[in-house]
Amino acid sequence: MSEAEYEFFEVIQGYLAKAAASVDLPEHVALILSQPKNELIVHFPVRMDDGRTELFKGYRIQHNNLLGPYKGGLRYHESVSLDDLKALASMMTWKCALLEIPFGGAKGGVKVDPHRLSTEELRKVTRRFTHALGGNIGPEYDIPAPDVGTNATTMVWVMDTYMNTVGHATKNAQARVVTGKTLTCGGSRGRAKATSQGLVHCVTEWARERSYDLEGKTAIIQGFGNVGSHAALLLNRLGVSTIAVGDHSGYLHNPEGFNPHKLAEYVKDNGAIGGYSAGHEISREDFFGIKADLFIPAALENQVGEAEARALDVRLVAEGANGPLNPAGEAVLEERGIEVLPDVLANSGGVTVSYFEWIQNKRSESWDLEEVDLKLERKMKRAYGRVMTFAREKGVSNRIAAYALALGALKTAYSERGIFP
Ligand code: NAD
Repeated sequence: MSEAEYEFFEVIQGYLAKAAASVDLPEHVALILSQPKNELIVHFPVRMDDGRTELFKGYRIQHNNLLGPYKGGLRYHESVSLDDLKALASMMTWKCALLEIPFGGAKGGVKVDPHRLSTEELRKVTRRFTHALGGNIGPEYDIPAPDVGTNATTMVWVMDTYMNTVGHATKNAQARVVTGKTLTCGGSRGRAKATSQGLVHCVTEWARERSYDLEGKTAIIQGFGNVGSHAALLLNRLGVSTIAVGDHSGYLHNPEGFNPHKLAEYVKDNGAIGGYSAGHEISREDFFGIKADLFIPAALENQVGEAEARALDVRLVAEGANGPLNPAGEAVLEERGIEVLPDVLANSGGVTVSYFEWIQNKRSESWDLEEVDLKLERKMKRAYGRVMTFAREKGVSNRIAAYALALGALKTAYSERGIFP
């Protein structure tokens, strides 16, 4: 489905309606959750390197804060829109509720292609955007994190800008206004790989339940940024080789398997996989038809429609990206018996370790990697088990099970608290 026709938020509302039925969600709770609480749009000027002034559009969508402060990433991409961010913000509410993390859901970003900006321009965009958001974010109110087009450096700029707008005496208590920071500036060990690590825990649980040996298996990965590259590295450790990759610059195939370390280094230096010599260029169409065991979408939403789903020749799709399958694509996969580990579960390792980072900042602690990894593994395996059991017992898809469990937690909290006043 073309980007213009695709209504991501409507798709998420469709899942919400289906899941609501399986947990008898009261009508008034479904009504509250059907829209975000706050939708903020800001416009801010930035002086570019060539002396021109550009006006940028930034967003922060706060879906729900019943279970804790709003939480969710900041995306820098030319396609950023209100509709997409509303969908992504609501998914953060479901993720935190499913993982039993005391956060709500939010998402934001700037409509810009970050690849066309210099580092200095990106820094200025981030600082002016943070300034424009002002008191609409905060360490106990709304806590951004990295997403597409942003990274640990972006988060440090947000943190520094925010810190410099509050009083001197409380400056250092503000570091947890964002998560996903660099280690030196208050980040957590294990955060960079957390989303992919969580996804790999889901894949290993899925394989264990089926006595399916992952050693010697193959994967194709769309998106080779934070989530895609770490997924390739972690799968490689389990003996799964990545034989095809794709990103905004194109698609590459290497039947022998890519060296994920070298490819990640190349992307770090060049910004994309394009031009990497240890693989041959293929079309997007060819990529989706490559025979492999796993497909990890780790780019954007609405990437797998009917045609891609018919072409896919894999056993499992584990969603690193948010919303990579559109409903038509999902229906085809279901009909073909290709299993899906849904985004709300499979990529929730990121927000889980963000929560660990937030706690460490709050307590002035710094946990070692083993502790972070162990805590993440426990959370992921528990959530995985709950989703699979629900899906089996109620006869619903893994996605609807994940949504339903999240809605179950929100339903209980709304019933205990009532509606103000
Ligand atoms: P990133 O910016 O590090 O990487 C994004 C990748 O997608 C890049 O390789 C980029 O080239 C590729 N891409 C962009 N447009 C594309 C297109 N049109 N076709 C093919 N590839 C394209 O972002 P990320 O943090 O790795 O996020 C990837 C996905 O994972 C997103 O859906 C994001 O919401 C989701 N996610 C990220 C996190 C996190 O912790 N970073 C957590 C949960 C979910």
